[in-house]
Amino acid sequence: MKKFRTLLVLVLSIAMLLTAFGCQSNEPTSSDEGEESSTTFNAGTYMGEAQGHNGTLKVEVVLSEDKIEEVNVVEHSETPQISDVPLNQIPETIVKNQSLAVDTISGATVTSDAVLTAVTKALEGAGVEISALSQTVSNESTEPKEMISKSADVVVIGGGGAGLSAAVAAGENGGKVILIEKMPMLGGNTIRSGGAYNSADPERQKEQGIEDSIDKHFKQTYEGGDKAGDSKLVKIMVENGLDGKHWLESYGMEFRNEIGSVVGSLWPRTHQAVKPAGTGYIETLEKAAKEYGVEIITNVKAKEIIKDESGRVIGVKAENVLDKTPMEIMGEKGVILASGGFAANVEMRTKYVPSLTADKPTTNHPGATGDGIVMAEDVGAQLVGMEHIQLLPMAIELVGPTINVENSIFVNKEGKRFINEDNRRDKLCEAILAQTDGQYYMINDSQVITGPNNETGQNIEELIEEGIIVKADTIEDLAQKINIESNVLKDTVDKFNKSVDEQKDEFGRKLWKNKVEKAPFYATLRYPAVHHTMGGVKINEKTQVLDANDEIIPGFYAAGEITGGIHGTNRLGGNALLDIVVFGRISGENIMNQ
Ligand code: ADP
Repeated sequence: MKKFRTLLVLVLSIAMLLTAFGCQSNEPTSSDEGEESSTTFNAGTYMGEAQGHNGTLKVEVVLSEDKIEEVNVVEHSETPQISDVPLNQIPETIVKNQSLAVDTISGATVTSDAVLTAVTKALEGAGVEISALSQTVSNESTEPKEMISKSADVVVIGGGGAGLSAAVAAGENGGKVILIEKMPMLGGNTIRSGGAYNSADPERQKEQGIEDSIDKHFKQTYEGGDKAGDSKLVKIMVENGLDGKHWLESYGMEFRNEIGSVVGSLWPRTHQAVKPAGTGYIETLEKAAKEYGVEIITNVKAKEIIKDESGRVIGVKAENVLDKTPMEIMGEKGVILASGGFAANVEMRTKYVPSLTADKPTTNHPGATGDGIVMAEDVGAQLVGMEHIQLLPMAIELVGPTINVENSIFVNKEGKRFINEDNRRDKLCEAILAQTDGQYYMINDSQVITGPNNETGQNIEELIEEGIIVKADTIEDLAQKINIESNVLKDTVDKFNKSVDEQKDEFGRKLWKNKVEKAPFYATLRYPAVHHTMGGVKINEKTQVLDANDEIIPGFYAAGEITGGIHGTNRLGGNALLDIVVFGRISGENIMNQ
């Protein structure tokens, strides 16, 4: 909303300017749906454009003499699914309300703002007085709403990767499932992730000269979290990783052939999705869920878990966030809580880690507010590891040319490497925060660029134009562009390239692949941001939620980032999507077969 307010101020200032030049219009009159605006237009079709999340977005606006007849987004490179709601809903609402005072879509504000700016520009081109279209239209009725009651075998709270995996698995086991999601779109943090899925896949890894095993994955996960996770859960996660990947593939998910190592994964066992960011996972799982008849309801927020007199969880109280209709959704077999983490909830995260104040950026979507933690606690669930909150060293969401670590070096603002880049995420962040301004540059050569877009679907050329990635033909020129002494950066890169030959450096780096040698070269400024909450609801091997005495709360299951006790103090990069798929599936199977 803040961004929209800024936009509206801009729009109104432009409007004042336009008025000064005598543009054609009457005063705004409409404030009710369906009422015709008395604004007059120069009928015709007008084009406008603005910068979206991934590139330029173009709209056409069709005007009759007295109405905005159509708004169509005719060109864009926004990430599919994340942008679907704003690209459809905002044009629709502008036409319906005959107003530009339309709320941005939470979780997709950049795309929302781009649509609104492009439409504003098109209207300006038509000579419209923008202020005439700034009236707020409320379609909300103040009448108290009647409760809607629904029932199914299973209620899933949260439509990210864990919730959708749970819904599909419950569907596979014959369950009638209702999934509620509080945001206007599915996907949560999953859809915004780098799309990386860890699992040992010895056959394919061997072809690429990588040695790996389930045991090694276990050891690195468990020890990489300082043995603070539950070893039984870690074992289940790594043992079911490859099967989970094949399960996704059986529903049409595509992974790249090459196995790599995303930052903090500690080993090359990361399977990278073909589709950008986490969109492939959500698209695949949503389609599969629909095939099983899962009823997916967005814009509905779970508020309270319902228990019966025996203490069994039997449903959830919820609310439609748009019109405030109360809902009660009952689950014959119980409820699966998959409402994600709390990194976007400043109050909650500072309760557990006081240093993670509001000024610390986060990679999370705005819905990652830990509602599930509160709801679970209210019905007696035990929480574990709440103080373990991960910062992502690659923040923020603009990831530069790659999230892969094997072909990257990190240099501080003095042009020097300061850590082995294949280290744990917590150690990387600690080291970064000790550098000048708590920032560093990731340096890459052009061998990492395999297409026009990076792993999250952003166009690399556009990122260069925006100055997010700095590009140069030589390391010396690159250094100059980022205010580092040329000879220092050149020495650093030469030294690194020598280390690649020797497979050894002073920091103890183990993952070696290409040298930084093929022009053009790239630098991306990066810094840590609050990323993943490792703590949460305590579960057993069947994903049943446990109370303070480690007793099962009947009918209550949890999976995904809402759960604690798996990743310990530090989660390996690429283990989150593994976690949600493996434990999401287990929860769906077990709730149906309890
Ligand atoms: P995970 O990786 O564990 O699946 P995600 O962040 O991807 O976690 O997904 C969790 C989803 O749960 C998000 O889409 C979030 O908006 C949703 N969610 C959070 N709280 C609620 C709630 N109270 N009711 C319904 N959905 C919720």
